[in-house]
Parts: sequence; structure tokens; C-alpha cells
Amino acid sequence: MNPTENNPKKIVTRFAPSPTGFMHVGGVRTALYAWAFARKNAGTFILRIEDTDKEREVEGSIEQIMKSLQWLSIGWDEGPDIGGPNAPYLQSQRLETYKKYAQMLADKGLAYADPYTPEELEAFRKEAEENKKPFLYRNHRPENPPVWDGNQPLRLKIQDAKVSKWHDEVRGDLEAGPEALDDFILMKSDGYPTYNFAHIIDDLYMGVTHIFRADEFISSTPKFLALYEALEIDPPKFVTLPPIMGPDGKKKLGKRDGAKDILTYKDEGFLPDAMVNFLAFIGWNPGDDREVFTPAEFIQAFDIEGIQKAGGKLNEEKLVWFNKEHMKKLSDSTFRAGAESLLPAEFKNDPAYARKMSGILPILRERVSVFKEITEMVSSGDLHYFFMAPEYNSELLLCAPKMRKGREDATVADLKPILEKVISLIEASSLTDTSTPEECRSVLWDYADSEGRGIVLWAVRAALTGKERSPDPFAMCSILGPKETAERLRKAVEKIG
Ligand code: GLU
Repeated sequence: MNPTENNPKKIVTRFAPSPTGFMHVGGVRTALYAWAFARKNAGTFILRIEDTDKEREVEGSIEQIMKSLQWLSIGWDEGPDIGGPNAPYLQSQRLETYKKYAQMLADKGLAYADPYTPEELEAFRKEAEENKKPFLYRNHRPENPPVWDGNQPLRLKIQDAKVSKWHDEVRGDLEAGPEALDDFILMKSDGYPTYNFAHIIDDLYMGVTHIFRADEFISSTPKFLALYEALEIDPPKFVTLPPIMGPDGKKKLGKRDGAKDILTYKDEGFLPDAMVNFLAFIGWNPGDDREVFTPAEFIQAFDIEGIQKAGGKLNEEKLVWFNKEHMKKLSDSTFRAGAESLLPAEFKNDPAYARKMSGILPILRERVSVFKEITEMVSSGDLHYFFMAPEYNSELLLCAPKMRKGREDATVADLKPILEKVISLIEASSLTDTSTPEECRSVLWDYADSEGRGIVLWAVRAALTGKERSPDPFAMCSILGPKETAERLRKAVEKIG
């Protein structure tokens, strides 16, 4: 039995999220691995929405799921929005298919209607608990179940409660005792299938060859195997991913433990390629010490053998590191566009804006790991001084610790002749708006050296930026140009009075 239209030899993987809210790193990583495996093997990657639990459904989740994958360019070949040979890709629209298979199993005597009320079931459960035995429905199988009319739950009749053995592509050979097998529900009384049933029918229809999923499904695998057997089909290969642990490495990351919506990282300015690289390494490695991969390189390198059994830790510092590495790969024009989109309009009023940006961009490229840091620099006033004369208190001219070295008794008044001398050196020089930091340095260096580098350079820097921490005075002089540099120094002299 193989109703699929996908070529059975072709690799087919799927990502099958339930629309129960935003996507966090765990779900996205599952999608990433399933996608990479399909891409590497020229296979098909399917997006299927498992929306059979109407109570847990959260509105807008499907769009959110798609947006998250699209941000990372994890593209699907078949899915609810684009269709495909095995459409529809929303489980809620496939009820007829599940019903057909359910009826077939019922007709064959492999499944039966569950006649019990919730209260009766609860009583069985209590009884088992009191006897300190695991509750097994199959111990209470009704002798003459009613004909299934779709209004009662339909349960699979476990034929042989044996030890289950199977192979997992990551975990190796696994087994579970007979207590893992019970008569589980295939169809609920509301007419919807359970996950346990629906995913198996869909994987069959869609020709799925490899199931990439989280480790919480290992314990249900004996049940899945019983169902594959009842349906007389070969199971796909199971590829169980390691859990993602929180930053302390002790607890599995979950939405309740601060797992973030993946799109938050987008809003924070992380690059999609960095995110992919980061996720790739939570639970996989290429077997050597390479770490920085573009998505295309990751696809090339990806294989199931590289997936770890043990849980991987979510370490956001590592994400920042990956982001910086991927920032280095951006072209100057892409970096510039990204940076400029974060700068306030008032900067752009500076007639020298474009010219100054050419000098500022290398500084930003050096300092910034994530674009959001540019926004932070704007709010803390760490970029304003490039475009506007700084406001500061004259004491700041003295405040830099290095400047004081050996000149602890210096007063602000002592700085007046120093700044005047610097102004005259700049005005007498041949510096222009296109002079480099090195050229600015050569104009000031000898004087700074003879007078005391600390006091001269730190005062000049404070006069140019109004900040204790900022780019060095030569870089500032080059970006501002000699005229604006001299103007700001003159203002400092006036301040000293
Ligand atoms: N709908 C399941 C979930 O969201 C998917 C499990 C699977 O991939 O089979 O966890």
C-alpha cells in the first residue's frame, strides 16, 4: 500500500508543527535539519500543519510559523500555501482520509470503538494506581464493543503486547517493554484524529522517508510501530534530535523557561545566516573544527552521522559570536544600508553626512557584532558626535584617566594653550576633508609626544566627542575634517574661558 505520488526512492522530509503559538529555537532547528537533509539529497521538504487539537490552537500561528521559516530562507516544496501533489497540507482538511483508514482498521477488527465514559476510565486508572500497576487500557478491553459510528473514540487493538525493537538513525537500536504498548486512540469523539494516527497516515501519503523530530516522541514509538504493522507499511527512518537545554545545561528549554519567539532575534538585528549557523551547531557538528558556515555550506556538510545524542545548550553569546562572523561577510553596501536604516534623520541633516559615513562605517564594522548595537549607540549618544557638536562639561576635558598620568595637578586652565596649539597645527597643515587618520596623526604626533600624549590626545578627543570613550582623536579628526575639528577645539577653548 503506497498512495504517495512522491517517487518512493526520493528522500522526502517534512516539518509538521502544531499551530500552538510562536516558534522557538527547538522547532526551527528541527525544520532546519529536515530541510538541510532534503536539500543535500535533492529531495523534497514538506511543510505540514498538524492542527487536529483545536483546543490548543493559537490564532495566527500558521502565519507566524511560515514567517519564521521564511526569515531563515528555509523554503518548502509542498505546503499549505503552495499546495503540492499530496494536498491539502493542513490536517484539519484531511479528515476524510483519516476516516477512511480508521474505518478500514475497524472493518478488519484491528481497531474498535471505545464505549467507556470518562468517569469509567478514571475509575480504571485509579484502580491501577491503588494496585501500584501501570494503567493499561488493553486490560479493560470491552468484550463486545459497539459498531464504530464516529461518535466514540476509536482505539487500535494491540495484537501482540511484545517487546518493541527499532532503530533510530541517531540513537541507534532502541527497545521498550510491553507496557509501552496500549490500545491507543486513533480517532477522537469529535471526529478529529489523534497526532499518533494522523501523522502516520500523512507520512504514508506524502512519501516521507525520514522523520526528523524531537526526543519526546521516542516513548510513543512502540505505538507507532504497532500501527505501521496494522497498516502493513514499512515505517520511515526515525531521526531523533537531541533536546535543546537552557543556558545552564540542566533543563530542557521550553516556552515556559524563557524560550524566545525566533522572530525576536530578527527584530534584534541578528542575521538570518548567523541564526542558521547557530542553530545548526546546537546538536550537530561537522566532525572537524570548522564553525562558520553559510547555509549552502551547511547543507553540503550536513549528515545524520554528525547529529549528537546528547542535549545541546542554548548559548546566546555564541549566537552573538556567529553574528559577528557573518557580519564580516556582508558587502560594504549591505552593511551600510543596514546601519543607515538605524540612524535617525537628524544625522542625515549634516551636509557632510555621506562623506562622514565612509569614515564611520569601518569603525562600526569593527565594533558592532549585531545591528541592534547601532540602535543602542544612537540611544546612548555614542554616534551623535560624528554629526553634531557635543555638549559637555569642561571638567570632562580633564577626566580621562590616562591624561592625568604624570599630570595629576593639571587644571582645565592648563589645557587652553594646549588646545590652541593643536588648532594652529591643524590650520597650518595641508589636511583636507579626505585626509586619513594617519595623516591627521602625523600633523599632531610630535607635539603630543613632546607635551605629553596623555594630556594632549585625551583633551582633544574629549573636545571632539564630549565623551570619555570614543574613537581616537585622529580618526575623529579625519571624519570631521580639519575645519569642523578646529571649530570644536575652539569651542572647548571658549568653554575654558
Ligand atoms: N505536530 C508535532 C509537534 O508539533 C510534530 C511531531 C512530528 O514531527 O511528527 O510536535
